[in-house]
Amino acid sequence: MDDEWICGRLGEDEPWVMGAVNPPVFENSLFTFDTAAELGEAIRNEDERYVYWRGTNPTVDLAQRKLAALERAERAKCFGSGMGAIAATISSLVSAGDHVLVLGAVYGPTTQFLRYLEKFGVTHTHAVDLEACDSAIRGSTRLLYFESPSYMRYEIFDIAAVTRWAAGHGLVTVMDNTWSTPIFQKPLTMGVDLVVHSLSKYVGGHSDLVGGVVAGPSRLIRPLALTEYQLYGAAMSPHDAAKVIKGLRTLPVRMAAHQERGMAVAAFLADHPAVRRVNYPGLPSHPGHGIALRQMSGFSSLFSLELATESREEVAAFLDALRHFRIGVSWGGFESLVNAPALSTEESVRATMGIPVGLVRLSVGLEAAETLIKDLGLALERISGSDG
Ligand code: PLP
Repeated sequence: MDDEWICGRLGEDEPWVMGAVNPPVFENSLFTFDTAAELGEAIRNEDERYVYWRGTNPTVDLAQRKLAALERAERAKCFGSGMGAIAATISSLVSAGDHVLVLGAVYGPTTQFLRYLEKFGVTHTHAVDLEACDSAIRGSTRLLYFESPSYMRYEIFDIAAVTRWAAGHGLVTVMDNTWSTPIFQKPLTMGVDLVVHSLSKYVGGHSDLVGGVVAGPSRLIRPLALTEYQLYGAAMSPHDAAKVIKGLRTLPVRMAAHQERGMAVAAFLADHPAVRRVNYPGLPSHPGHGIALRQMSGFSSLFSLELATESREEVAAFLDALRHFRIGVSWGGFESLVNAPALSTEESVRATMGIPVGLVRLSVGLEAAETLIKDLGLALERISGSDG
């Protein structure tokens, strides 16, 4: 089963699809039964039976089957957002008194959620590498959570080494694989227990969807589907599942196009005098490039650069000068986007987080690379470090 077939066809030749080129969208909130006994039996196995849309839905199911197959997982569960998937996944794995290790930089709201869990007696510690994990691990540590490439800095972790270390200490590992998508990286094949994604980025691909997924073994997905999925209520709607299915149809070709453009833009920036540094694991100069080549089959097009300036005004002028990159949050869509975290972060928080003033995040879309490079070249003239 190749990824293209999974994306385009898996589950779609079955009788319920009736030969339709796109599968039906089941818009019903509930299902009915011939007898009370049948309803009772379905409720007892609600993670596998269709009862009510907050729990299960056939269109959502099809998206889940495709995502599970792409991640080489037994099962997947889709959510109404990436954060819905992350919050439910972490909650399902910890109890009061437990401790979580966070390796490297992770998505801000993931850390916020871990801070929120403190009121329920779950603590966490951030560690920059496995050596720091060695010092931070406690008897109560249950879970190791990480992203590779890491958030905003795009640092690469050796996934097999991380999961070996975690398994040696009896920890469950959860990895956010949104950056690579399952097309470019399959963490479960490297020992990760559960993979989470925001589907709002490359998988959706058209900036018209917010969704999330967790994929892994049935023994971990089933309890989560029966409890946190049902009780937190961050259910994916069948309409959004249909968008996920459509996004998947073109995901392999879009990722190849994102990679080509991301690489060209990153290489241009890496050579520019107004740019101190480009954090893109696809560049041979990136410190994690060698490991990345071993564990990834490609590179997406989200990365950061550090402008040669300490002036917030210059950073803002750079963003404002861009014509093709639009200013906004999120990433992974058809459209190129730019964001400078220092401009929307309080100075004290920025300094604590170690985000340089000149850090700019680019999400390279599907426009022509030459157009984007020209746009960036003109905007970089606003930076005093530039000789352009
Ligand atoms: N993980 C990463 C790496 C993200 O960048 C995001 C959103 O920006 C999320 C998870 C959360 O996803 P969502 O916005 O779909 O809740």
